[in-house]
Amino acid sequence: ENLEDLDDIARRLDREHVFHSWSAQAQSSGLVVASGRGARVWDHAGREYLDFSSQLVNVNIGHQHPSVVAAIREQAELLTTIAPSTVNLARGEAAKRIVARAPAGFRKVFFTNGGADANENAVRMARLHTGRDKVLSTYRSYHGNTGAAIVATGDWRRVPNEFARGHVHFFGPYLYRSEFWAATPEEESERALRHLSRVIESEGPASIAAVLLETIPGTAGILVPPPGYLAGVRALCDRHGIMLILDEVMAGFGRTGRWFAFDGYEVRPDLITFAKGVNSGYVPAGGVIISDEIAATFDERVFPGGLTYSGHPLAMASIVATLDAMSAEGIVEHAREIGVESIGPALEELAERHQVIGEVRGEGVFWALELVADRKTREPLAAVAMARIKTALVAGGLLPFIQDNRIHVVPPCVVTADDVAEAIAVYDDVLSSVALGD
Ligand code: PLP
Repeated sequence: ENLEDLDDIARRLDREHVFHSWSAQAQSSGLVVASGRGARVWDHAGREYLDFSSQLVNVNIGHQHPSVVAAIREQAELLTTIAPSTVNLARGEAAKRIVARAPAGFRKVFFTNGGADANENAVRMARLHTGRDKVLSTYRSYHGNTGAAIVATGDWRRVPNEFARGHVHFFGPYLYRSEFWAATPEEESERALRHLSRVIESEGPASIAAVLLETIPGTAGILVPPPGYLAGVRALCDRHGIMLILDEVMAGFGRTGRWFAFDGYEVRPDLITFAKGVNSGYVPAGGVIISDEIAATFDERVFPGGLTYSGHPLAMASIVATLDAMSAEGIVEHAREIGVESIGPALEELAERHQVIGEVRGEGVFWALELVADRKTREPLAAVAMARIKTALVAGGLLPFIQDNRIHVVPPCVVTADDVAEAIAVYDDVLSSVALGD
């Protein structure tokens, strides 16, 4: 076979038969990926791309980690599938490793197929545990594409999908585009908490089951919370008997240079949702880590929820191997160090060279460049210019994660300093050469 032909065949079959997420079907990226290794992927013809998206910010351990691939193969030979009601060793081993990384007082995991159904089931647990109904979440959030998760989501994707009830939205902190006229992180934190407190009072505290928050909102812009905010949310929840669900689907399992993003803050959630980095998406998986208090609610009472593939053996084997490899190879520590020593300083330097970068924020391998038409007014860079930047980055051999007016710099946790230097050169070149006006 001519390998160029395979790329063409893949593109043609895709255009003819594959229906894609979140897009008008006449548009297609046309980007073919046939194989990968670490922070790099290739098409059939061997064209190489540096993956600075980690796909959907999920391939934390890098592509094709050999021990994870081997574990999936071994499990496939032993037992590829089994009902969730059975006892399976791989499932227990996976759950044990997950709770070992959670705070004290979390001993049980409910496994799902991904992040959306993790949030779906966390919301259900909070409602049944409290006997209350409402769920509060932020406008700047993404929680997944199912019933409650998409309506808890704050961004535009909620609006055509508002069929679930009991959801209320509020504004979280975001100093660069403050909703609260704040000038300092301290002001932003205090005023965002005051706003949330007013929303809780106005909604009727006794009707609120949960506050659902991404510890660090990801797709919404990698919005690192200001000092005291998460602790303040915890205090408000405690005052009113509200459960705090922290969505760690994107931020968890190494992305921030910590096992959980909330390990960096004074906050203890009641429920933790995860997916993505727990096994880098090698097999679809997610879940809810349940506090002992909430787990006890279902000791004698039936939990009215389940999934055919809850605790699927291939997913479980991949979780065990991923977490073991991340620990053995110091991958989480590496993510922290590469952020401090390499990515952070390089992005700050890039911002000195390019007026279009209005703000650099993030940590670990979780960074955003906020692109603006004007640094003073902070007007977001126009969509046409963002599209040109995206095309040029791909042409330059880099897979970017572009959202609204931002470039999210989100490589796998295993990215090297050389990879970072190579990527920075591509960003630099593209920001110098692309027309940024409309
Ligand atoms: N929560 C967060 C914070 C996410 O970033 C995502 C996906 O991007 C989800 C939930 C949904 O996860 P999934 O797409 O696996 O359902």
